[in-house]
Amino acid sequence: MKSLRDLPSVDQLLQTSEMQGWIAIYGRALTVEAARQALNRVRTSFAQENTIPDQAGLLSQAQSLLKGWTTPTLQPVINATGVILHTNLGRAPLSRSAMQAAQSVASGYSTLEYDLEKGQRGSRLVHAEAVLRRITGAEAAMAVNNNAGAVLLALSALARRRGVVIARSQLVEIGGGFRVPDVMKQSGARLVEVGTTNRVHLSDYEAALEEKPALILRAHRSNFRLLGFTSEPEMAEIAALAHQSGIPLMDDLGSGSLLDTARFGLGHEPTVQESLQAGADLVCFSGDKLLGGPQAGLIIGRADLVAKLKKHPLARAIRADKLCLAALNATLLHYLKGEAEEEVPVWRMIAASAERLRQRALGWAAALEQGQVIAGESTVGGGSLPGETLPTFLLVLSVKSPNRFLERLRQAYPPIIARLQGELVALDPRTVMTEQEPGLIAGLRSALSAAKKTPQPTQG
Ligand SMILES: *Cc1c(COP(=O)(O)O)cnc(C)c1O
Repeated sequence: MKSLRDLPSVDQLLQTSEMQGWIAIYGRALTVEAARQALNRVRTSFAQENTIPDQAGLLSQAQSLLKGWTTPTLQPVINATGVILHTNLGRAPLSRSAMQAAQSVASGYSTLEYDLEKGQRGSRLVHAEAVLRRITGAEAAMAVNNNAGAVLLALSALARRRGVVIARSQLVEIGGGFRVPDVMKQSGARLVEVGTTNRVHLSDYEAALEEKPALILRAHRSNFRLLGFTSEPEMAEIAALAHQSGIPLMDDLGSGSLLDTARFGLGHEPTVQESLQAGADLVCFSGDKLLGGPQAGLIIGRADLVAKLKKHPLARAIRADKLCLAALNATLLHYLKGEAEEEVPVWRMIAASAERLRQRALGWAAALEQGQVIAGESTVGGGSLPGETLPTFLLVLSVKSPNRFLERLRQAYPPIIARLQGELVALDPRTVMTEQEPGLIAGLRSALSAAKKTPQPTQG
């Protein structure tokens, strides 16, 4: 085609068998829009470039528009980073039963707020409460949309216009805009800081009680460690002091494990049960960190305090939806039945033996006929156990342009997220689900063959 007059019309394009096929896939209106935009682009660029693509070129432009408009931005990926609770990659993968539970309520009606026995309105809060109480021994429990919401709700319901005592060493920023002092401000509570950055003493808390605070808050540091000349009173000591003065103590555990991480060669992440035993009146933690369930915020503790939270208007604004509650209940049942280690993917990944990981990495290297298997480290992530690592084995590939290679892996379907170890591309089997291995190998193969074909810029 030489001039704009040779361009086909939208109608002519629509008659092609390609366009007819796309109408079946993408719908008529969207396909017409793609044809129109492809033609418009040619008209605009003609002014500068003086060239016109042939019909095949036009069609391929329209197709890439259609693909771009309809490809979900939220899609599954293969996590080969070795970071188990990767916040950017959706944190905890769900167990099979959790997934099935969500699916079973997704496509139809459910007892979300319906009491089958009474035949009348029920509460969505019951779906998490009984099982949470049974696992933790807490008097009461509730689930909301996420843990940031849980903290905001508790502070708003219990401490609005009043003081909340917190150690300076716990005024943390978790990431994603969650900063304890900001959440405090948002809730209307007044920050009463005690101690110094590195040390806080029981007497600091004692002195702060003269301000008649509404709450003492302890926040898990989550993503950093305090080393050196440091001290903090034990939870039980703070609890005893709080209870003498009739002030509730809340523990924001962040990840909040129900199992002891020390059993897996990791440091000890404070457990939810320990926090309750030490005397916390309320404990809140995430559903999708070490619990290994859906995004949620769990609050357990004293019945009178939880009742206040349930009644607060904010509770309605941050309530959990039916998919979350179904998956959460199924996840919690794994703990109740003592099968979390086998059934919850996060714990299966934590428990995976280095030898098993080595075998998997060797299997990948054999399938690719490339790469080496070397010792490395996986991390838990998700604001738990900062600085702690699990010994693993990595498949490492030496390629000419490692960053370009990582980009190619991200363009695979499903996309593969790997990392660099020095100049090597490293893939950690710990976080790759076994059913994703064929996809991983296929993606690696095509990235490797593409890397071979690309001529490298010569030095000099
Ligand atoms: C992660 C974390 C939160 C936020 O939890 P989300 O479930 O992500 O909202 C709050 N507090 C602490 C201490 C955390 O580690």
